[in-house]
Amino acid sequence: MADTPLFPVTVVGSWPRSTELVRALRRKEAGEMTLAEFNQVADGEVLECIRAQEAAGVDILSDGEQRRDNFYSFAVDKLTGMQLMKVSELLDYSTDRARMEEVLRALDVPSFAIKSPIVVDRIGKRQGLAQDELAFMREHTDRPIKIPLPGPYMLTRSSWFEGLSDKVYPAPEDLAEDVVAILREEIIALRDQGCEFVQLDEPILSQVVFGEESTETFMCAALPNRRDPSDELELAVRLMNETTAGITGIRTGVHVCRGNWSRREDVLLTGNYGPMLPYLTQMNIDQLVLECATPRAGEMEVFKEYSNEKEIGFGVVNPRTDDIEPVEQIVARVKELLQYFDADKIYLNPDCGFGTFAERNVNTHEMAARKMKVIADAAVQLRAEYS
Ligand SMILES: [Zn+2]
Repeated sequence: MADTPLFPVTVVGSWPRSTELVRALRRKEAGEMTLAEFNQVADGEVLECIRAQEAAGVDILSDGEQRRDNFYSFAVDKLTGMQLMKVSELLDYSTDRARMEEVLRALDVPSFAIKSPIVVDRIGKRQGLAQDELAFMREHTDRPIKIPLPGPYMLTRSSWFEGLSDKVYPAPEDLAEDVVAILREEIIALRDQGCEFVQLDEPILSQVVFGEESTETFMCAALPNRRDPSDELELAVRLMNETTAGITGIRTGVHVCRGNWSRREDVLLTGNYGPMLPYLTQMNIDQLVLECATPRAGEMEVFKEYSNEKEIGFGVVNPRTDDIEPVEQIVARVKELLQYFDADKIYLNPDCGFGTFAERNVNTHEMAARKMKVIADAAVQLRAEYS
């Protein structure tokens, strides 16, 4: 990305999905629509998403995850040995159903709508995870492309479920070996096909650090015996480093946010990045893509100790609100961050995607475009000052 300007503007991943697209996703899932028929619908939606980002001034585009049911469940279509299960179905296997129901209610999670890929057999590659998405993007834009992938820790943790997965993989760590190998191969293939930026999503790390003693979460039905958070974080670091070891020629990032499934701020997790940064900075990746616009993310001073250790994908707008952040506010936030990071280490993005789960857009297409536009406007001002 030699000609990328300072403060590159990018997205975290998802874009709101249209009703037509969600209907097509469901029909494909039910076997009423072939993949080719589905792709016809999805191609059109991705094109719209690409054009909207280009028009807004986004420098590094994603395909809006339009072909995915959500940011990790799509693995089911791409890998063998996994089965898509609704969280409500998993309740039947849960060791403490009443407790899990209570957690889901408290978190404002629709258990009937959210699905998890659950490992039921040895996993293998049916096809690349996102190489088809990249190929389509490459045909339709000249701008650099970001591909979000589920991180190795999340993919392992969210898909290993006791009573279903342990027949093949006695422990999550056993599954992790296969997950790491698959992700490594994928990143290398994406790089070789011209992807500039791969982002590994690890949102459940927030649950590990900031979640209360809740035993199970919707994304991580598999944390029945909550272990020491530092053990979990160390595992996440080890898996990330095994996944990216020795890979060069592509920008890598890790995305962490405190939840993007509900507009109710009170049910989303709160706390600054202090407890997490010692681990995130040990990861062999270029960029930390972090939710920072919401006050729940806490103070930016936590970066002082880690200044310039990594690039930062700085969350400057909240994807879940109905108001548009003023350009001056974004510029001021970036100036605050410039105390801890050099200008060429700062990328600008929203806190998270605009439609994490297919059935739960957190905003409209129009609002997503407007929010990206103000980020791009802020970048123009910042470039004038710092280039
Ligand atoms: Zn997120």
